Amino acid sequence: MILALAGGVGGAKLAAGLAAVLPPQELAIVVNTGDDFEHLGFRISPDIDTVTYTLAGIANRELGWGIAGESWAFMDQIARIGGESWFRLGDRDLATHVERTRRLRGGESLTDVTAALATAHGIAHRIVPMADDPAPTIVHTDEGALAFQDYFVRRQCAPALTGLNLAPDVAPSAAFSALIDDPALAAVILCPSNPYLSIDPIFALAGARERLRARGVPIVAVSPIIGGKAVKGPAAKIMAELGVPVSSAGIAAHYGAMLDGLVIDETDRAGADAIIGPRLLITQTIMRSDADRAQLATDVIGWLRREWTLDPSDPISGVKKA
Ligand code: GDP
Repeated sequence: MILALAGGVGGAKLAAGLAAVLPPQELAIVVNTGDDFEHLGFRISPDIDTVTYTLAGIANRELGWGIAGESWAFMDQIARIGGESWFRLGDRDLATHVERTRRLRGGESLTDVTAALATAHGIAHRIVPMADDPAPTIVHTDEGALAFQDYFVRRQCAPALTGLNLAPDVAPSAAFSALIDDPALAAVILCPSNPYLSIDPIFALAGARERLRARGVPIVAVSPIIGGKAVKGPAAKIMAELGVPVSSAGIAAHYGAMLDGLVIDETDRAGADAIIGPRLLITQTIMRSDADRAQLATDVIGWLRREWTLDPSDPISGVKKA
């Protein structure tokens, strides 16, 4: 069984590729909930929704969030009556938040609600919130401390990031915890998500980092930095603000001893010598199409099997051809 850790866009793309080549029992996707917040009375879980919509094949690829073919009647009306319109919620997307909020108020866990919504979308693979309890990421900036969505959406990541307050006292969800302990766990893949905003909040949960490392299975990441830039989002800006080299070497240094392997893009082959520590896979890592996603997933799984000589009876050896 492969455990993939993911944030939103970049994470969801590789998660979808993995789901295309691995059967449901051989993949679980644990998703960051540090971006979750309450807005207009609704419980919003942006990364869970991005992963769910992406696996369901209904993600809005132009926006990078929300549902394709969305309409905006609710948002237009909220703005017209003077309500809060800085965080955009499409009409179809709104149904997710209404239903999630209703179920949570009825006493279901975020894990159960997430599973129910995934099932409703016809997704067979497990999408698991990193935590059931709130674990909000606080962003420290040159303009003071900001709640995550105030930094990310309202301020469009403009303030310079000086540090992060993650939630170290929050327990992993029971489902994530069980996945860490699952005897079938063969490898952990850190999807090409923002290391600071999407993966670190998962590692920061009580005991998560130590327990994952203690399993002794390979932990490999796909670098979100290609050619000195992030494919999308503020990862490169944040690295520069924190004084970290904006490169895959910087990603390797950031993950440090948590990382056994790093997947970097062909275009960064020349910089490979600067990467200290992890074993490297150099391949095409930009995922434009469904075929790109499945190909990268196949490359990473094949590499795991070769480099870490996973037990041939291990289920991931039965990978379907993309
Ligand atoms: P967010 O929560 O929506 O910001 O999404 P994530 O944290 O999951 O992903 C953002 C990161 O994904 C950025 O740092 C991007 O550089 C990276 N990313 C997005 N698309 C791709 C891709 O096709 N290939 C790679 N290697 N990285 C990508």
